[in-house]
Amino acid sequence: MTSIAANLQRVRERIGLACAAAQRDPREVALLAVSKTQPASAVREAAAAGQRAFGENYVQEGVDKQRELAGLGLQWHCIGPLQSNKTRQVAEHFDWVHGVDRLRIAQRLSQQRPDSLPALNVCIQVNLEDAPTKSGVTGAEALALARDVAGLPRLALRGIMHIPEPAADFERQKAVHLRARALFDDLRAAGFELDTLSMGMSDDLEAAIAAGSTLVRVGTAIFGERARAAAG
Ligand SMILES: *Cc1c(COP(=O)(O)O)cnc(C)c1O
Repeated sequence: MTSIAANLQRVRERIGLACAAAQRDPREVALLAVSKTQPASAVREAAAAGQRAFGENYVQEGVDKQRELAGLGLQWHCIGPLQSNKTRQVAEHFDWVHGVDRLRIAQRLSQQRPDSLPALNVCIQVNLEDAPTKSGVTGAEALALARDVAGLPRLALRGIMHIPEPAADFERQKAVHLRARALFDDLRAAGFELDTLSMGMSDDLEAAIAAGSTLVRVGTAIFGERARAAAG
């Protein structure tokens, strides 16, 4: 077994244990393998070990890998911050976008999504910690943005993405993830048919699952440490 295959197995075990601890069905929690800065060969190894969904932060790097790996039937998620001059490439090449936090970006993605492709799946990025330097809308802004995004014809609003500040212990990680969970529940109660609560990474996936995550985005625990200069 390659080390990537072994790491993937270990991450799947962690997800299984976290689900058991939270009395959740492991089929409710999808695994997104975050392959930013990793070569296409690493993605190929993960795909050979059964992984289908991959997350990329840098649009051009992601598109290059998609070209190299065309034919493997992989699903691609754009999880980085999005600038307007990159929306066309994202609309034309990705299946999901997790970092939508402005209506203007959502409008461009909808306009630029080719008719030959299904609607682009979208998560609204939320920032629930009053960290002004970070991307994401506040809980109060999320409802209005969700309403606008849900009205765009070529987007399918699927949920929210949450990236908390790193916290060392499980209880603190869980407490902030629970705020995202509460917002997710509020949006569903307001009538949005959301099925994706995108939260949890290598260091906090257990706490995210305990708080209700339906999709964990895991890079380091699968592919190893990223080169520092490229980690962005
Ligand atoms: C890099 C990244 C991840 C993966 O982080 P790890 O700590 O390597 O698991 C998840 N989500 C986003 C948005 C990222 O940028």
